[in-house]
Amino acid sequence: MNSPKKELAAEIELFGEMNFDFVEITIEAPGATPEKIGEKKKAILDALHSYNFGVLAHLPWYFSVAHPYARIQKAILEESVRAFDAAVLLGAKKATVHTEFLPAGLQDRAVHVAKTIETVKSLQKEASNRGIELLVENYLASSFSIKEFKLLFSEVDAKMTLDVGHAEAKDGEGVGSFISAFKGKVAHVHLHDNDKKGDLHLPLGAGKIDLPRCIKELKSFYNGTITLEVHSEDRDYLRLSREKLEVMWFGKAHHQKNKEYQGAVGGAGR
Ligand SMILES: [Zn+2]
Repeated sequence: MNSPKKELAAEIELFGEMNFDFVEITIEAPGATPEKIGEKKKAILDALHSYNFGVLAHLPWYFSVAHPYARIQKAILEESVRAFDAAVLLGAKKATVHTEFLPAGLQDRAVHVAKTIETVKSLQKEASNRGIELLVENYLASSFSIKEFKLLFSEVDAKMTLDVGHAEAKDGEGVGSFISAFKGKVAHVHLHDNDKKGDLHLPLGAGKIDLPRCIKELKSFYNGTITLEVHSEDRDYLRLSREKLEVMWFGKAHHQKNKEYQGAVGGAGR
């Protein structure tokens, strides 16, 4: 995932040189707004094409879906639609939105849940009109619980981005519980580490999440895209996290073979 503070085309090139398979683009201020993406369309698309990158889109994490003020929610919905248009331009087929990040205690829980479902319905419609599948990402249980996700999915035809770090944080309900509830719904995964308390987005292995167990649980039903949401300024941690994921996912021997193959064909001449 790009840092929205940085130039998007340069971010894509950096991930390309690191041999990633796809990029998840957060369409987000200040550096990757729909306007900026429109302005720098050519450089961005050139970078995506030169690495043959698949693209996933992400709405700004702080975009409310259950804002207490209806007019603010309406404005956020309008901005989300602009983000979907930018996602189309980037060639994304899936876009992720988080459940509400504002403290749920600001309003009655039933209202919070009803607003979330109403907004997700509108977002799903707008995304689907543009050929994009909307994925709803779990945040913390205080934001939206497994029980509430069940209600949401009974009313809205959306899939899910399973965020392992959020599920394993103190106020999460655990990856295992999400998998048993939504196995058939998971269409994308976010992976990062934390101290089992806060939502820290640490490199894999730097925190306390039992990652081998989580990977085993994921592997039991899933073989799709995984974004490493490692928010470190030093991108070496991203490279290291991918290595650790590959070893956990494929085993050491297979990982070594992949590396040799990439060494033989990768990087050079691009
Ligand atoms: Zn996430």
